[in-house]
Amino acid sequence: MQASERQVPTHAPMTQFSVNNGELVIGGIPLSRLAARVGQTPFYAYDRQLLAQRVAQLRTALPASIKLHYAMKANPMPALVCHMAGLVDGIDVASGGELKIALDSGGDPHEISFAGPGKSRDELVRAVAADILINIESFREVAELARIRNETGCKARIAVRVNPDFELKSSGMKMGGGPKQFGVDAEQVPELLAEIGRAGLAFEGFHLFAGSQNLKPEAIVEAQYKSFDLALRLSQSAPSPVRFLNLGGGFGIPYFPGEQHLDLAPIGANLASLAERASSEMPNAELVIELGRYLVGEAGIYVSSIVDRKESRGQIFLVTDGGLHHHLAASGNFGQVIRKNYPVAIGNKMTPDKCENVSVVGPLCTPLDLLADRMELAEAHPGDLVVIYQSGAYGFTASPQAFLGHPACIEVLV
Ligand SMILES: *Cc1c(COP(=O)(O)O)cnc(C)c1O
Repeated sequence: MQASERQVPTHAPMTQFSVNNGELVIGGIPLSRLAARVGQTPFYAYDRQLLAQRVAQLRTALPASIKLHYAMKANPMPALVCHMAGLVDGIDVASGGELKIALDSGGDPHEISFAGPGKSRDELVRAVAADILINIESFREVAELARIRNETGCKARIAVRVNPDFELKSSGMKMGGGPKQFGVDAEQVPELLAEIGRAGLAFEGFHLFAGSQNLKPEAIVEAQYKSFDLALRLSQSAPSPVRFLNLGGGFGIPYFPGEQHLDLAPIGANLASLAERASSEMPNAELVIELGRYLVGEAGIYVSSIVDRKESRGQIFLVTDGGLHHHLAASGNFGQVIRKNYPVAIGNKMTPDKCENVSVVGPLCTPLDLLADRMELAEAHPGDLVVIYQSGAYGFTASPQAFLGHPACIEVLV
């Protein structure tokens, strides 16, 4: 091997699914058999067993007193949310539509919380009626909830979503610190808390969410203890003791060459010390972390069939029936600055005799519809199945399905 070759970063090994007779196995079913069962490509498949394993892994790594919530915007498929509801301690929703799915899933309404800027009056009315915890993001929401409480006589359970005075370092997507549309700036929170007290709303705690897709444990640890300290400081202005402290999440998964799985050990150790501090400094508070991507991302794949195989000026193109209209993130158009390849495989040729350098593209009339850019894959032909790993989060519902009018995609939980 030459020195220059050794430098090339590779994808973290995708070992979550087993391989049998050269085929990837999902939920105990070989991929081509699953494709026959689904009745079409493209489809997303999510593996129940892997979802349960991931929750179990977190329970082992984190202190027992930490509550684990599922942020369902990562994957709101109703069957999957039902499955998750039986595994985690609560569900975080970000719209009235998600609230309906969370309630249908049978999760305890007391353990459902609702965050998001621009909650409509209708959404707030529904949230109050459902008796869930509402993470307040503005002064307007306080006034609106006071009106709703007066009109309906129902108690409004609220927490304050704080836009912290620090950022989550090394995060794929920052959602706190600096000027943000999320939450209320830490500096304004004492005034907001006074307003909540005057309105007689049921204050229950704080919610801080600094950002998403972070693979650096030290950055997550720092954000969590800074969040704790900030909440402790703000709790001095609160009208009643803090019962919930949601410290956010942002745990990332490896997508691109050179990225590694997150080391949970330092995060678990830090949460243990925060739980210890909470027991004396904030004795009524339950500590919560909310995770979306980390819980579901690695348990899902996106599967499409090769429709055509072409060569253009020395480059091989595999054209599939799936593309960015179903999986925007894999095409590089959902938040990435520089397009990089997701991990990809030919799912029915997992132990190939021959590999070749190819690009995998979708059927859309745009050069953005690129699923793999010059990757080394098993030699593949029309009918073979292209698998994109790490597709359990921000896939199906985060993609522009109507763009170009191709057939809809299907999701299965196996
Ligand atoms: C999006 C979001 C999450 C989930 O983020 P992940 O990176 O998928 O874990 C959690 N909380 C809030 C408030 C969010 O907006």
